[in-house]
Amino acid sequence: FAAFSRAMSKSGERTFLAVKPDGVQRGLVGDIISRFEKRGYKLVALKLQQVSEDHLRKHYADLKGKPFFEGLVKFMASGPLVAMVWEGLDVVKQGRAMLGETNPLASKPGSIRGDYSIDMGRNICHGSDSVESAKKEIELWFDAKDLCDYKKANDVWVYE
Ligand code: UDP
Ligand code: MG
Repeated sequence: FAAFSRAMSKSGERTFLAVKPDGVQRGLVGDIISRFEKRGYKLVALKLQQVSEDHLRKHYADLKGKPFFEGLVKFMASGPLVAMVWEGLDVVKQGRAMLGETNPLASKPGSIRGDYSIDMGRNICHGSDSVESAKKEIELWFDAKDLCDYKKANDVWVYE
């Protein structure tokens, strides 16, 4: 029981994930959601939304000045994307591993980018790179009231 409570308290970590406009167009939304569901993570918030360049400049503020920044912002604003919050043990780091490397060519088969993409600017999905950026990104993309606080009956079969 002690181990169970320990796992449950650690399992409150959250990350921000997005299926980018290329992933939506290519019909990969269901597959990407499915991978996180099947792994055992909990969906806390989700929306399909086309956002402004201004919003994306905030989201990618750390990359301002990079040669690909403007193209990235324009591409991300070019169509609807699926913004999500997922919760669970080590979900930030595990989520990044499930995505693969930034460059799809360096991503292993079995990862989302390694299975479905080739080019850096069309790498299908976004995932927060640290617990701290996850907090900022969740705040930027979602109102607190839209983050669902609920228990998954499955958790006793996912966490020991
Ligand atoms: N990107 C790009 N060219 C680069 C580096 C990044 O087009 O040389 C794009 C790529 O789509 C990436 C996004 O910019 O996903 C954000 O870059 P970051 O370094 O944060 O990579 P990520 O965290 O998405 O793996
Ligand atoms: Mg990043």
